[in-house]
Amino acid sequence: MNEVVIVGGGLAGGAAAIQLARAGRSVQLLEREREPIDKICGEFLSIEAQRALDRLGVDLDRLGASHISTLRLAWSRRRIEAPLPFTARGLSRKRLDAALLDLAERTGAKIDRGVTVRAAEARRLVTTLGDLAPMVTLAASGKHDVRGISRDVAGCDTDYVGFKIHLRLPVRARADLDGKVDVILFEDGYAGLQLIEDGIANLCLLITKRRLSAIGGTWRAVFEMLLREPYAAMLEDAEEIFARPLTIAGVPYGYLHRDNVDDRIFRLGDQAAVIPSFCGEGMAIALHSAALAALVVVEGGDAAAHHATLRRDLRRSMAVATTLQRCGRTALPRHLLLGLLRIHPGLISQLVRGTRVAAR
Ligand SMILES: Cc1cc2nc3c(=O)[nH]c(=O)nc-3n(C[C@H](O)[C@H](O)[C@H](O)COP(=O)(O)OP(=O)(O)OC[C@H]3O[C@@H](n4cnc5c(N)ncnc54)[C@H](O)[C@@H]3O)c2cc1C
Repeated sequence: MNEVVIVGGGLAGGAAAIQLARAGRSVQLLEREREPIDKICGEFLSIEAQRALDRLGVDLDRLGASHISTLRLAWSRRRIEAPLPFTARGLSRKRLDAALLDLAERTGAKIDRGVTVRAAEARRLVTTLGDLAPMVTLAASGKHDVRGISRDVAGCDTDYVGFKIHLRLPVRARADLDGKVDVILFEDGYAGLQLIEDGIANLCLLITKRRLSAIGGTWRAVFEMLLREPYAAMLEDAEEIFARPLTIAGVPYGYLHRDNVDDRIFRLGDQAAVIPSFCGEGMAIALHSAALAALVVVEGGDAAAHHATLRRDLRRSMAVATTLQRCGRTALPRHLLLGLLRIHPGLISQLVRGTRVAAR
């Protein structure tokens, strides 16, 4: 029997598996997908995420990650350009998650791909491999809740629908985007655009359900609406690499797990906290929570202690990010905030810093 079972092989699960295997624990990771897949994500790696990956031994240069040092924030005909307080990297989740799972396997973790955990009951996991009763369970199933350990998302902002697609841009548009991340605001949503490996562009976009249904409810309608934004016009001749975009609905923005003495299962990544996507800090949180959980498990601590520490580490950045997201949704605060940023673009750097997870 494996001492630790990890449910989910995304960033959080993969990172925890590496660290626990290095500490000599017997680890089994269950990932429902048989092969690496594209995932909905802006694919912007913050400095905290990069440092965590470096500590794990993941070489972003070898994986071909792009470099991003400038943020361009656009709305209607206006645009502010500001340096990021760090050089970010862009890399597809398909490549990154695969690299982590490969490393976990080489480190000694048992990786079972194509295995779904159907439910968590008392000390038992019901899986497509049969029932398991590990000493320690780590929930790292990301956006997908497992029956028996669903997240309590009351009070979170769940009314966005997300789209993601990879694009091949015309040469001039690609050169213009090189080194930058574009955030384009539009009524009831925003889009993020950046280069990842091999000069491919990742477009990730969030729109409220209300607006989506008002414009016709389809990706085509969303894309055409985006093209009407002056600073998105460069996408006009882009070639869509996916047959259709990836979509997601109901992501519980602002969710931060409350520790409870009855906690039996360690929550990691999106199962522990969901920061608004525009911050580009979700992957750093996934890696941070994985490192913390591995440490607590190795020291013999319990899930409640892990959750209490994680909550303390994340509370400030989650509050800043959620407040900014809510400001962005209402006309007057949005207008005031954007006006202020136009006068003082240096504030962008401070806001970016305010949404970073504390280093550990
Ligand atoms: C629109 C959008 C844009 C984003 N942009 C960024 C960004 O630019 N930068 C950033 O840092 N963060 C971003 N994020 C956040 C980031 O994607 C997540 O925080 C991060 O993926 C969380 O990692 P995870 O390991 O918790 O979950 P995931 O990466 O979702 O991994 C979970 C894994 O569990 C598996 N799984 C699920 N259910 C089961 C089951 N029952 N049994 C077995 N396996 C299961 C899944 O197949 C998956 O591989 C964005 C999120 C969204 C929604």
